[in-house]
Amino acid sequence: MATSSPIEPSFRESVDLMFNRAVALMDLPPGLVEKIRVCNATYTVRFGVRLRGDIKTFVGYRSVHSEHMEPVKGGIRFSMGVNQDEVEALAALMTYKCALVETPFGGSKGGLCIDPREYEEHELERITRRFAYELAKRDLIHPSQNVPAPDMGTGEREMAWMADQYARMNTTDINAKACVTGKPLNAGGIHGRVEATGRGVQYALREFFRNPEDVAAAGLSGSLDGKRVIVQGLGNVGYHAAKFLSDEDGAKVIGIIERDGALFNAEDGLDVDDVFQWLRANGGVKGYPKATYVENGAAVLEEACDILVPAALEGVINLGNAERIQAPLIIEAANGPVTAGADEILRKKGCVIIPDMYANAGGVTVSYFEWVKNLSHIRFGRMQRRQEEARHQLVVDELEALSDSMGNAWSLSPSFKAKYLRGAGELELVRSGLDDTMRTAYQSMREVWHSRDDVTDLRTAAYLVSIDRVAQSYRAKGL
Ligand code: GLU
Repeated sequence: MATSSPIEPSFRESVDLMFNRAVALMDLPPGLVEKIRVCNATYTVRFGVRLRGDIKTFVGYRSVHSEHMEPVKGGIRFSMGVNQDEVEALAALMTYKCALVETPFGGSKGGLCIDPREYEEHELERITRRFAYELAKRDLIHPSQNVPAPDMGTGEREMAWMADQYARMNTTDINAKACVTGKPLNAGGIHGRVEATGRGVQYALREFFRNPEDVAAAGLSGSLDGKRVIVQGLGNVGYHAAKFLSDEDGAKVIGIIERDGALFNAEDGLDVDDVFQWLRANGGVKGYPKATYVENGAAVLEEACDILVPAALEGVINLGNAERIQAPLIIEAANGPVTAGADEILRKKGCVIIPDMYANAGGVTVSYFEWVKNLSHIRFGRMQRRQEEARHQLVVDELEALSDSMGNAWSLSPSFKAKYLRGAGELELVRSGLDDTMRTAYQSMREVWHSRDDVTDLRTAAYLVSIDRVAQSYRAKGL
């Protein structure tokens, strides 16, 4: 974790501080507050795998924060930074995230302390399968109990191994595929899951910019078009967010920060795909010819821009640099990139922060769709698509016949016809469901933000909405 000050609390404490700040504004019984705040259980496993002629021991975790709804949900990360404090903080954030975007899950998170880049694919497969075995054996991977997903250092490949491991252990479970999400399409995945978190960041910003009052609160105006963006981390989330914002909304990505330094080009902006290809080929951004290379990447977080998108690690905006951050708007594409201390400094400076539990909820939202798809055993759109197209064709035929009978009075443009006649497939439906989710959740936060004098920021508003929903679930259970 990139906290630079000795007085900075841990990630878990930071999440608790933000939780406490919100809960102080609510009228909940202290016992219930404590029940919601604490992590229900964290399982630690140490297992050995025979590798390169030796037995290597790995440490993994799966933390369950809240079971007010089941299954519990949340990613599994592979990183050397994984520890109990981190998975517990991330599991808590999953509880609030799922409540905010109304995915019917409790919160969980897992991690394996490993640098995946140090292993060959076949070695990683053995390690992942063994970890999955340890978790599945205790129902910590299970379609109705606990459903992992990708996170930092994991992706479709690891999810396919885990799903297969679970299926081998539960040969008669007809719902086995729903035991993890983020799987490849050919292994029960869903269209649009890989891009989902980045897409969610884009939809969140679009919704923010649909509300001029909120845009003005950040000292900005207008639309996303032409806004200067700095992105930290060109992994799955950062890459897709930056790509969609620049290709589809006219934003100008002027800075990209990676592990080995940053690229900066305030004049012309950066071509996100071009930088991504370079990064893949060279393992870093250094040497990229069409921008200025800055060795101390973190310094670029402090450059002037309109929107800062931290999409990498937790704690990167902390007591050590918060005062120098110039961005008037931060969207937390990563989990926990702004510490509680930094949050306070930035709030005082008037910076608007679109909080992680909302901003990066696109991943778990599309995971929810994938889980439903797996349980219903049918691809979205399979029943309706052609019927929808046939009905639209009827309207087009009728209009054209009418036009004919009036001596070709008008004609429908070919592009309108092409769009109107195309029935929605799975990808269109996933995007529509994600867009709806991001708009609805934003409005629920916004309403609290603007209707209460004691709520001055979106994060507190988000916590209020989520905690209230979790509290209602517990009450309904008689707690
Ligand atoms: N790891 C992602 C997150 O932090 C996705 C979780 C999921 O899809 O369950 O939200």
